[in-house]
Amino acid sequence: MSEGGKIILVTGGTGLVGRAIQNVIESNKNENEKWIFVGSKDADLCDKKSTEKLFEKHKPTHVIHLAAMVGGLFHNMTHNLDFLRKNIHMNDNVLQSAHENDVVKVISCLSTCIFPDKTTYPIDESMIHNGPPHPSNYGYSFAKRLIDIQNRGYYEQYGRIYTSIVPCNVFGPNDNFHPNASHVIPGLMRRLYDLIKDGNTEDKVFTILGSGKPLRQFIYSLDLAKLILWVLREYNSVEPIILSVDESQEVTISQVAETIAQAFNFKGKLVYDTSAADGQYKKTASNAKLRKYLPDFQFTPFNEAIKDTVDWYIQNYDQARN
Ligand code: NDP
Repeated sequence: MSEGGKIILVTGGTGLVGRAIQNVIESNKNENEKWIFVGSKDADLCDKKSTEKLFEKHKPTHVIHLAAMVGGLFHNMTHNLDFLRKNIHMNDNVLQSAHENDVVKVISCLSTCIFPDKTTYPIDESMIHNGPPHPSNYGYSFAKRLIDIQNRGYYEQYGRIYTSIVPCNVFGPNDNFHPNASHVIPGLMRRLYDLIKDGNTEDKVFTILGSGKPLRQFIYSLDLAKLILWVLREYNSVEPIILSVDESQEVTISQVAETIAQAFNFKGKLVYDTSAADGQYKKTASNAKLRKYLPDFQFTPFNEAIKDTVDWYIQNYDQARN
């Protein structure tokens, strides 16, 4: 690596977004960048000593902090305290170790699902702290919101440019397909594949939890990875930035289920279990700020990205997080 180069430490480097960044930098690596991807086996970021050792070992100049306790609606609803405490610990340990080791830039991850429950739409970056989050995921949400507060503190007291990105729902290869922990897309893929693995026949019934009506924006992990590289190289502000597809690309959960069914070439019938919780009806986010910087960025069409993910899942079923 040349003089004045960057050493970029990616926490959560073994997860959905971390693996997508690994994939994207294979063809988009700058000469002066050294990349280090770490997972929970390399350091327990809930533990301050373990986090400090990680920073001493790699001496990063830049950190992309993706590590988090992450889960879908049903896991969040039953584990709010764990989501709150683990994420607070990880975020504080990473940010403070970065500061103590003179890291120039940290990019941490918030999420569009931490925004206020009662709000006007579309949601933008200025509204993060405007009211309580949806009660189903208050632990995760408040822990994430504190990252933004802490970033502002490092800026005010020390002039540090520690920033945050706010992705909408992410999906893609290497997602977590475990039924109790997974988000809606990998959760549906897992259940549908289990249903048809031993025979894709017309009499099969695929049940989707909830009404299918809620609206969501989904970003393909490889698109998000490209945008994170842009934030690393070009975006120099403490202010959070939403990394989402356009508002026009919002889809209903039933469209998601149908697109997944098509990608699996499912021959049976879809039914909706309306007795199950729907979660927040919508959380439409505006990517106007991103579009000011990158008006021509092309997001992968949803059905193409779903098809690629389904193909990846079928090919990698035995090694996938199931
Ligand atoms: P994953 O669940 O796929 O990966 C989580 C990562 O965090 C893994 O690499 C895991 O390591 C690591 N990790 C978890 N606990 C610890 C710990 N105690 N110490 C060290 N590392 C730990 O997450 P995603 O890739 O989906 O998410 C990345 C970021 O994006 C997160 O901050 C998340 O909140 C945010 N985000 C995600 C969205 C989504 O839809 N997935 C939407 C919006 C934001 P290992 O696997 O080695 O155990």
